[in-house]
Amino acid sequence: MSDTLTDIADAAEQLCDPRQHAEPRWEWDTNRNKKPLKPHVTTVPGLIQQLRDQAEPGVDGEAGGAGGARAVPVAIDAVSLLAAISLGAAMRAKQWGINLDERTTPEEHIRGLVGLAGRRASDEQYELRRELRSWAWQAEIITGWRTPPRELVAPCPQCGARGTLLAYAAEDNPRARCVGCGAGWAEVPHQDEGSIRILAEHVIAYQKQAGTTMAAARTAAVADRRRREGKDAA
Ligand SMILES: [Zn+2]
Repeated sequence: MSDTLTDIADAAEQLCDPRQHAEPRWEWDTNRNKKPLKPHVTTVPGLIQQLRDQAEPGVDGEAGGAGGARAVPVAIDAVSLLAAISLGAAMRAKQWGINLDERTTPEEHIRGLVGLAGRRASDEQYELRRELRSWAWQAEIITGWRTPPRELVAPCPQCGARGTLLAYAAEDNPRARCVGCGAGWAEVPHQDEGSIRILAEHVIAYQKQAGTTMAAARTAAVADRRRREGKDAA
């Protein structure tokens, strides 16, 4: 299997399949040394199911006091990402001629796409990889598995949008992406990604230039005020 197809399968697995999660645990002995304990292993559902659990928390069955059944507040981020994934997966499945009815879950659509990916052109494979990874990343952030990204203060060098460049704290590939156009920058770039070093240079150059522009604007404003004050005094 090519790298791209492996990546596609990995991202699809994260989104669709349950996995084992090992939570590290420690104890302190009498000398106050930290000792590792056997990790606490739990099975966690796939990311899409986790989003669903957050998006449709249902109703707490216990009739609690005067309020009766208590509705759990809706997590709008989870609702919106779940809708984007469901729609996106269904659209691509339709494009690729996967014949599934409307009751088909996004997981089934994604598994269908993974099954066909090997027969599609490479640019379509990149596109699918980008889409699945982007969903998995966003889902990991919303479900709390991943530290939220930090916004980079510079326009995207690919699409020029502002406020869309995000840098990720974890050591993963890519380290930064544009949520506008989907461009990614990585330590070890794949075919469709740029180098994180080039992006860093772009951000630094932009910030330097923006700094100069702001300084120039301040100088001009001060000069302008002095000129006006000078006129008033005259
Ligand atoms: Zn962009």
